[in-house]
Amino acid sequence: MSESAVSEQAGSELSARAEKLDAEDELAPLRARFVLETPDGTPGGAAVYLDGNSLGALPVGVAERVDDVVRREWGALRIRSWEESGWWTAPERVGDRIAPLVGAAPGQIVVGDSTSVNVFKALVGAVRLARGGAGRGAAADRDQERDRNRDRDRDRDEILVDATTFPTDGYIAASAARLTGCTLRPVAPADVPAALGEGGDRTAAVLLNHVDYRTGRLHDLPALTAAVHAAGAVAVWDLCHSAGALPVGLDAHGVDLAVGCTYKFLNGGPGAPAFLYVRRELQERFDSPLPGWNSHVRPFGMRPEYEPAPGALRGRVGTPDILSMLALEAALDVWEGVRIEAVRAKSLALTDFFLRCVGTYLPAGRVESVTPAAHTERGSQVALRCPDAEEVMRRLIARGVVGDFRAPDVLRFGFTPLYLGFADVERAARVLAEVVAEADAAEPPPSHPA
Ligand SMILES: *Cc1c(COP(=O)(O)O)cnc(C)c1O
Repeated sequence: MSESAVSEQAGSELSARAEKLDAEDELAPLRARFVLETPDGTPGGAAVYLDGNSLGALPVGVAERVDDVVRREWGALRIRSWEESGWWTAPERVGDRIAPLVGAAPGQIVVGDSTSVNVFKALVGAVRLARGGAGRGAAADRDQERDRNRDRDRDRDEILVDATTFPTDGYIAASAARLTGCTLRPVAPADVPAALGEGGDRTAAVLLNHVDYRTGRLHDLPALTAAVHAAGAVAVWDLCHSAGALPVGLDAHGVDLAVGCTYKFLNGGPGAPAFLYVRRELQERFDSPLPGWNSHVRPFGMRPEYEPAPGALRGRVGTPDILSMLALEAALDVWEGVRIEAVRAKSLALTDFFLRCVGTYLPAGRVESVTPAAHTERGSQVALRCPDAEEVMRRLIARGVVGDFRAPDVLRFGFTPLYLGFADVERAARVLAEVVAEADAAEPPPSHPA
């Protein structure tokens, strides 16, 4: 396919613009800290990786660190490494490295288990907290109020869940509801304040996604958290698509519990363990539904009775997945000295520029962005809808532009500011225009006038 899909003038204007933006980009040097090899034989030159919201790229140095963990810490030191190599304390230590990226003071995050498992811990824990009056925050400590509220809080029997959630959160929420005797009500995030009102004092916990995995819509975490608290309920946020992509402000906005993924924008590697945040004031009362020996106050006491450890540690369960955890720890080195605000500014500039290039290069109406145009409502991805999305993505990947397809009709492109530049974005839009032209030449899609 020639350049014919893109007019020469429009193409050279946007290429020049990309070059200028790359030259001004203060984060550009970070690209060298990632392994971004092109698979052999990819036509069209360098690959553009726009799937860091599904699996982040490999940071330089991680392979060497994992090799050392395996050969020296495991191979030579063996069991001594639990102490000497800091394995035992890794869940809290790595949690404290993630903390500044999501606006949390130290001592509130543990790393371990998958996001799905942490959603379970957080949501069941949230219902238990709400029934103990924790959802009322500071107001719970005013005596008369407290007595009056206590009975009502014990009766809370509803969980609200993001109706547009990534499926795993919905499945886990349904199980958490069954286990706690709650009804589960799916609600679009924007409708949560109204739904809380309808429930009276029934709602115990609300589980929301910070950024919608499909559309890339960013939800209003401060306002929604405040609404949840005003109803005396407990807020659980899933940060899978915001951790490492934009400022979250967990402490500043009084979020109760949060979970997040480390293999997306935090580049921890396939299957890297997730994290669980429990706000400091709630830790004493956080009653995990998975109280394993690793969260015991004296794990080596081998007692028959469970007594939870203080602080974030009570979010632990069993033996941590050390190889993945230490790969993640090494991957987090790239964040040294990087401000998440700078990452956010670049992310918005990248997605703006991508939308502009797509608007210029593609025939009008051929794709429709389902990602909000407003910066306050946009995460770090662009989702484009088109009827033949599956086929278009297949062709894109064959040309080295890697995004993903989400059923039924969404092309999803994730933008990781640490290793993507504006020239990458321009190239991706150009190749998209070319493969769309190819696809139309092969078989015009029904909604597209021939
Ligand atoms: C990626 C993602 C998950 C992944 O859960 P795992 O247990 O790691 O497979 C969960 N929730 C959301 C919103 C996600 O985007």
